Amino acid sequence: MPELPEVETTRRGIEPHLLGRTIAAVTVRQPKLRWPVPAALPQLLMGQRIERVERRAKYLLLPFPAGTLVLHLGMSGSLRIISAGEPPMAHDHLDIALDSGQALRLTDPRRFGAALWMEGDAFAHPLLSALGPEPLSEAFDGDYLFERARGRSAPVKTFLMDGHVVVGVGNIYANEALFAAGIRPDRAAGRIARERYLRLADEVKRILAYAIQRGGTTLRDFVGGDGKPGYFQQELFAYGRGGEPCKVCRTELTEVRLGQRSTVYCRICQR
Ligand SMILES: [Zn+2]
Repeated sequence: MPELPEVETTRRGIEPHLLGRTIAAVTVRQPKLRWPVPAALPQLLMGQRIERVERRAKYLLLPFPAGTLVLHLGMSGSLRIISAGEPPMAHDHLDIALDSGQALRLTDPRRFGAALWMEGDAFAHPLLSALGPEPLSEAFDGDYLFERARGRSAPVKTFLMDGHVVVGVGNIYANEALFAAGIRPDRAAGRIARERYLRLADEVKRILAYAIQRGGTTLRDFVGGDGKPGYFQQELFAYGRGGEPCKVCRTELTEVRLGQRSTVYCRICQR
C-alpha cells in the first residue's frame, strides 16, 4: 500500500512533467473507483493549466482557479508519466493527456484509489479538513503529541496511526518509529512521558524523511515504470520481523495485533 513517503515520491516524480502544462484531454475508462469519478471531470479539466502539484496526507492535489483535482492511490494505485499514445492495460483507469505529448496515467488494480473534483477551497472539504498536521511540518512535535495524548487509553501505536492526530504514519513507519524511540507499541498513549514523545516525534520525522529520500533515488522510474517503495526490507528493524532476532539485542521479536494491524516489538529494547 502506498504510504506517505511513496506518495511524496510520486508527487516529486510527476511534478516536473506537469508544471506549466495544459491539459489536452482526459480519458476515464473506469469511473468506479473508491468514489465515482465525476462525469464532468474531462470538461472541468480540459484546457486548464497546471500551476502546482501539492500533497496533503496521502492525497495529491492539482489546484485550478475553479477547483482542485484530488487523486488518491488507495491500496494498489500508482501514477506514471507515459507517452500519450501508449495503449492502456487492464487496470489503467484514467489518463490526463498534456500539451507536451505526455500523459499522467492512473493504474489501480484494486480500485480503492480516487479521482475527485473539489470546488472552491479543497482544504475545507470534509476529507481534508479534519486531518491532523503533516508529520514533517513544524506543527508536529513531541509537545504536540504529548498534549494530544492526555487522557487517551488507546495503545500509542494506534494513537500514532490516527490521521486526526497526525497524517501519514502508516503501519510500517509506526512500527519502526516506536522501535527507534524504545517505546512499546501497546503502552497506553496517555501514560507516556513528554520526554519520550519528544524522542518519538523526532524518530517519526527522521524515518519518514529518510524513506522519502530513498524513494527519490527511483524518480526516473516514474517515466515508463512503476514507483518503488521508499524503504527496503533489509533496513527495517521491526516491521515484518516477528520471531526474528532484534538487530540491537538479539532477543526474539514479539508480534501481536493492535487495531487489527501487525505489530512487532522487542520486549527488551522497548518499554
Ligand atoms: Zn532488542
